[in-house]
Amino acid sequence: MSDRLPGFSTLAVHAGAQPDPTTGARATPIYQTTSFVFNDADHAASLFGLQAFGNIYTRIGNPTNAVLEERVAALEGGTAALAVASGHAAQVVVMQQLLQPGDEFIAARKLYGGSINQFTHSFKSFGWNVVWADPDDIASFERAITPRTKAIFIESIANPGGSITDIEAISTIARKAGVPLIVDNTLASPYLIRPIDHGADIVVHSLTKFLGGHGNSIGGIIVDAGTFDWSKAGKYPMLSEPRPEYHGIKLHETFGNFAFAIACRVLGLRDLGPALSPFNAFLILTGIETLPLRMQKHCDNAKTIAEYLAGHPAVSSVSYAGLASDKYNALARKYSPKGAGAVFTFSLKGGYDAGVSLVSNLKLFSHLANVGDTRSLVIHPASTTHSQLDDAAKVKSGAGPDVVRLSIGIEDKEDLIADLEQALTA
Ligand SMILES: *Cc1c(COP(=O)(O)O)cnc(C)c1O
Repeated sequence: MSDRLPGFSTLAVHAGAQPDPTTGARATPIYQTTSFVFNDADHAASLFGLQAFGNIYTRIGNPTNAVLEERVAALEGGTAALAVASGHAAQVVVMQQLLQPGDEFIAARKLYGGSINQFTHSFKSFGWNVVWADPDDIASFERAITPRTKAIFIESIANPGGSITDIEAISTIARKAGVPLIVDNTLASPYLIRPIDHGADIVVHSLTKFLGGHGNSIGGIIVDAGTFDWSKAGKYPMLSEPRPEYHGIKLHETFGNFAFAIACRVLGLRDLGPALSPFNAFLILTGIETLPLRMQKHCDNAKTIAEYLAGHPAVSSVSYAGLASDKYNALARKYSPKGAGAVFTFSLKGGYDAGVSLVSNLKLFSHLANVGDTRSLVIHPASTTHSQLDDAAKVKSGAGPDVVRLSIGIEDKEDLIADLEQALTA
């Protein structure tokens, strides 16, 4: 063995996995079991008291899920990760460790529609208050900081328009305020952007999208960068104060630079309960093996299609950071040089009706509410994912009435263009 560090594609195939010690199975087995036998009473007690690591019960951890966790932590450059049942579950579990009732967090206004809903309505019922900031006006994050601010939340490549967020500029504001920066890296995947390299303290993903990549499993993951000092200002009692449910252990003091991932597991996942099925973990792991190949093809196809649409007479504008003329192109070159992702929007001269009609005339593109599938997907956000917003908020979040969102798959680009052409002329 040489001592060179493995590259990204090697990690995507191998990180966290080894042949099964008892059977020699080369693919990671699906440990489809709820629970695990203890060696003896002392072993059981030490597992329950967090004195030893090991398997207890699949709601808290599972060996198939552990391979997925190690792999994504390696791809993102974090210290540890925790897999959960969905991207939204990841967001709840993260915030539960950071916020007490009455606390605030700042979120970029350009977000996945479901996150806007979750933050605005469900989180409010926990007493967690979202304050919106504008990723196109970095100073708006600084202005939103108050003594109750506990975190900043952004997307690296933002839904629905595929805009690129200036992670380093926002991380500087988070550092100064003494709060962690959380980056939802779903649309980029670590193949395109590794937010921890740019100052993120926590990365979350919907594994449902590009990481799983095949549109067959819902999942989420939390990656701990190991960079944040949870004990410094007494602002994060879940991490710095003695935990009554674990004989008074202080998680940050005990677990150091992976304390956040531990807190998410032993307080969040254990008590809120959104465990990922080991079967889904297996499918997502299989997907991750081809992430670099798929992601490059997704991006290359997306760029060609964005260029085609930009030259089409029925199209009034295309919002794709990979186009040289796009206002996010400089940020795309800096943060995402291999490609600007595969999710973007364009506007139709015919407005709302043209959007609805295009979506129904496409044949190869599937009309559905997902992104990051091998298949190409289309949706009209104003009538679906962003329909809960009022008209002004729709436009602000990039989902105006004339906007259509595409998630470009890995089919032959000529076929995708032919489908768009017939639907635009229909
Ligand atoms: C889909 C998505 C989520 C939510 O993930 P689920 O797995 O559907 O719960 C969060 N953020 C982004 C950017 C997404 O695309």
